[in-house]
Amino acid sequence: MPEMKKIQNYIDGELCAPQSGNYLDNYCPATGKVYSEVPDSDQNDVKVAVNAAKKAFPQWSTCGIETRSRILYKIADLIEDNLDRLALAESEDNGKPVKLATNVDIPRASSNFRFFASAIVNQSTEAHITEGQAVNYTHRHPIGIVGCISPWNLPLYLFTWKIAPALATGNCVIAKPSELTPMTAYLLSELCIEAGLPKGVLNIIHGLGAKVGEAIVSHNDISAISFTGGTATGKRIASIAAPMFKKLSLELGGKNPNIVFADCDFEKALSTSVQSSFANQGEICLCGSRIYVEERIYEKFRDAFVDKVDKLKVGDPKEEESNLGALVSKGHLEKVEGYVNLAIEEGGKLLTGGKRVQLDGDNANGYFFRPTVFEGLDSSCRTNQEEIFGPVVTLIPFTSVESVVEEANGTAYGLSATLWTENITKAHQVAAKLKSGIVWINCWLFRDLRTPFGGMKQSGVGREGGSEALKFFTEAQNVCVKI
Ligand code: NAD
Repeated sequence: MPEMKKIQNYIDGELCAPQSGNYLDNYCPATGKVYSEVPDSDQNDVKVAVNAAKKAFPQWSTCGIETRSRILYKIADLIEDNLDRLALAESEDNGKPVKLATNVDIPRASSNFRFFASAIVNQSTEAHITEGQAVNYTHRHPIGIVGCISPWNLPLYLFTWKIAPALATGNCVIAKPSELTPMTAYLLSELCIEAGLPKGVLNIIHGLGAKVGEAIVSHNDISAISFTGGTATGKRIASIAAPMFKKLSLELGGKNPNIVFADCDFEKALSTSVQSSFANQGEICLCGSRIYVEERIYEKFRDAFVDKVDKLKVGDPKEEESNLGALVSKGHLEKVEGYVNLAIEEGGKLLTGGKRVQLDGDNANGYFFRPTVFEGLDSSCRTNQEEIFGPVVTLIPFTSVESVVEEANGTAYGLSATLWTENITKAHQVAAKLKSGIVWINCWLFRDLRTPFGGMKQSGVGREGGSEALKFFTEAQNVCVKI
């Protein structure tokens, strides 16, 4: 038997074992087998990393924007050079199709570094002139040491979305990827060494949320936490970090409405709705899981939607034709199955899917599930209120703008919403009434990295992206000069 690949922490510029010497099993979702080991790090590893970051901070925070920008560009280039290797690794670790990782996840990770490498040298600062009396200018200082904690669904994509602006603004970072999908963060640490990132500037510690995650959140010398993950975890993190007066950015769960008006471009709405329901196995916080369809076209849309969903192929993530790969873990597969059972108990009519997919060969024990569509459930039931975060959507007819806006807004979440109509006045009016941080009109997941990104209500606190991220990772200081 070849020795199992051991992932390492990246601390003070070196790849190293966790202090405890303990490791966790890392499963490949498409085979259901353990294929590598992840450090089971703890507070001792966080302590060493924070000390390294403290040593690195004075030099990194003052080396100049050109130097930081050049290193971030170099990391972006290396991610691009390693596209195929990283995409394969992401797929093996997460279960998503290699095609998706190649076209979306890995290019976006590279873009994240490239975007903030450019942003930092193109940024200007505000000045406020008090006529004839004083000039105020805003000096944005790096915060110091910041913690970045990310989830498993878009592993390298979301990990780098936090790390890149934190580094660009001159902070040193203690970062933790999800213990379910640690591989590409590990490969990134090798690329950071190759890119010449100075020792201690970025430290990547692997392990469990409740152990190493909380050690990061509660460390006295880590002054800001940028977190993406579930709402319950966000609540826990806030309860620790808020009394310590840490800066907090929380990107949390969603239960997003997708509203299809009768006057939409039917074919576009239909095909994008299939994508926005089931891309990445429905494991994207922005997926539209409640599809509201205007009554006049409900039956036509439902039949065409189910027909398209039936044609989606759930298969080996390595195969080009697979539209959906495996769900991330056995636990998550069981959670999704639990919600399918709940939807049936709540009186939902199963239109398609609702069951595991049995593949053969290497994939015989993988966590595959058919894309699933329900109808006949009202907006207030648990299926339509709670985040499933898998390939399960419900179709709900509506009759008026007022009623659909009320139902769309009627959950604890407010991350994103999509709406489909060719009536541009109605589109703007409805968008303004939706309590969502992001609204897509006649498109979905169309991203411009300069735009504010984040959720309202229990979907989060704060915004990422563009200048919002540069502001989050800096402390604004007003300097007033009397004339
Ligand atoms: P999760 O909350 O279980 O874990 C996220 C990260 O937090 C992981 O790295 C985990 O180890 C860590 N963690 C867990 N408990 C912790 C604790 N007590 N202290 C510190 N860290 C802790 O979420 P998940 O299951 O990995 O991801 C799925 C969730 O993420 C979904 O709810 C999804 O909607 C959300 N998400 C949100 C966005 C967004 O931008 N709003 C994007 C992607 C995913």
